[in-house]
Amino acid sequence: MDHIREEDFINKKPDGTVKQINPFTANEVWTVPGRAGRPLANVKPATLTPLARHTEDDYCDFCFKNYLETPPEKSRIVLEGGQYVEKSHQSVDELYRTRALFRRIPNLFEIVSYDYWSRNFDYRLSDATARWRDSYLSNPRGLEHVLSIVNKKLLLQGHSRQAVDAMSATEKLEIANAFFGGSHEVIVVDRHYDPAAQYESDLFSSGSMTPDEHYQYFKFVVGSLHNLFEGNRYIRYVSVFQNWLRPGGASFDHLHKQLVAIDEWGTSIEREVELARNDMNIYNANTVNYAGYHNLVIAENEHAIAFADFGHRFPTVAVYAKSAETFPWVLHAEELRGFSDIVHGIHAAMGPFIPCNEEWYYQPLDAIYPLPWHILIKWRVTTLAGFEGGTKIYVNTLSPEDIRNQLVPQLFDLRYRGKIAPFTIAMECSCKPNSLKYYKSAVRT
Ligand SMILES: [Zn+2]
Repeated sequence: MDHIREEDFINKKPDGTVKQINPFTANEVWTVPGRAGRPLANVKPATLTPLARHTEDDYCDFCFKNYLETPPEKSRIVLEGGQYVEKSHQSVDELYRTRALFRRIPNLFEIVSYDYWSRNFDYRLSDATARWRDSYLSNPRGLEHVLSIVNKKLLLQGHSRQAVDAMSATEKLEIANAFFGGSHEVIVVDRHYDPAAQYESDLFSSGSMTPDEHYQYFKFVVGSLHNLFEGNRYIRYVSVFQNWLRPGGASFDHLHKQLVAIDEWGTSIEREVELARNDMNIYNANTVNYAGYHNLVIAENEHAIAFADFGHRFPTVAVYAKSAETFPWVLHAEELRGFSDIVHGIHAAMGPFIPCNEEWYYQPLDAIYPLPWHILIKWRVTTLAGFEGGTKIYVNTLSPEDIRNQLVPQLFDLRYRGKIAPFTIAMECSCKPNSLKYYKSAVRT
């Protein structure tokens, strides 16, 4: 890929057009005056439907009352005596003994399936996983649960009721191996709606949590990520993402993240590794240093930094971990907390009404060139159309400065009200050059 000059990252024209080129993807993006500036952050939708509150949450399959509508749970986090405790492999009889704050469950429709790993790599259930499966199925209610989920899956896949009824239990249990040993998972949050919800749009979002809850959520996802790598040695990367609201690609309005294991790095990470190999300091130079010099930094603490990113098809906020550790599960607890606090703050400042994707990027397990762990939060507020298809120039409705200007006042307000962790905002940030210490991990390996 041709070298992209720093003066082309963001180029403001006299008429107000802001041309941008992303230094990692080479995407060309324009923000055109007149199409920009719509206020978005924390603005309620124009049409509001009053919410009919149910006594127990049963708004979707991820809700409390519908635990049995999803496959067997791998683990959950519960609050016991003020402590967050992880409980793994709950039997069907234990599902309702506690209320899960977060649940780790298999995705019913895997993007990369158990079958893919089993046929292409000869991947098999580990002894421990096979024991869990056998013990779950040895309970008649567990067996009934698993068979009902297999039936549901087959029907949703378009098989007729007659064909599903004609299948043997053995065939169905073969399909159920994906529930126990598959590597596409969903991490579901307890609440569907905000506790104070009045309208159907008042959903419980990442920003609705307290900073502490968000940290526990983050920690649980990171632990699950590590566990996937440990359970299947053929995995080369696990894609971690959160689709929020239908325009963001979510099939449920109920907050969840997904982890999808793959046997390659994927094009984005391959390109990033290549760039980092050529210039070890590229992440400092092209992200945080540049953002600091151009006043695009939105928030910062000792362990992380967020800025309005440039050259994305959708308005995007980037959050980078400063840690010298590059694998998310190796970060020290205080580093993970600091990173989580900033990500939480950005979500809280956006509010629950903006559809978005939260995408995680980190160093692949089998890469020796360090990449800093970072998260992009992309606002799915524009629809790509013919102009983009024909020119590969993407028109984005908000410039990086617009994004910063939307979030900064919200962050000051949230911090004043004690809703987010007390990190520095905008002009208060230190913006020291080379604040990302990922490159240090190269010296150690
Ligand atoms: Zn729900």
